[in-house]
Amino acid sequence: MTFSDRKNLDITYMGRAIAIARLGARTPGAAPIGCVPIGCVIVRDGQILGEGHNEVDIRHDPTAHAEIVTIRRVGCTLGAADFRGATLYSTLQPCGMCSMASIWAGIGRIVFGAGRADVHRMYFEDRHLDTFDFIADAFRDDLGVTGGVRAAECAALYYGPTDRPPLEKQGNV
Ligand SMILES: [Zn+2]
Repeated sequence: MTFSDRKNLDITYMGRAIAIARLGARTPGAAPIGCVPIGCVIVRDGQILGEGHNEVDIRHDPTAHAEIVTIRRVGCTLGAADFRGATLYSTLQPCGMCSMASIWAGIGRIVFGAGRADVHRMYFEDRHLDTFDFIADAFRDDLGVTGGVRAAECAALYYGPTDRPPLEKQGNV
């Protein structure tokens, strides 16, 4: 696969992740707080293995991030917990928990839209460590990360770095 083929696929699958994120924000149960619209798609060999959106407020489960929801779904579909060779797409840079879960799932490549610098800090749990640190420090050496795919469209789903979201929405403070 050429570099430009891969880039086009990234753009296509990120489009799907954006649509899933929006779907999540409209899901009954997301109100009144409203689910943070994060969408995830896991793909292998040109096939979507699973997709999901943030369900934290729907399930009252702080671990129900879009990536975790999708990883669980793919595991059930495959009947396996190792997704070696798969790519995980997320509209927002995965948090530490989801980066680690991706490593445990054998994901080979993480592709995200909006990065930490594009959004409010409320979306992250750690002051310094992030996806790149966890991937760089992993035992595996077959991991890749690509950020900034459809970044502006993805960032538009979230509070910006200088926005002032209501304190009750800021789960990390
Ligand atoms: Zn997460």
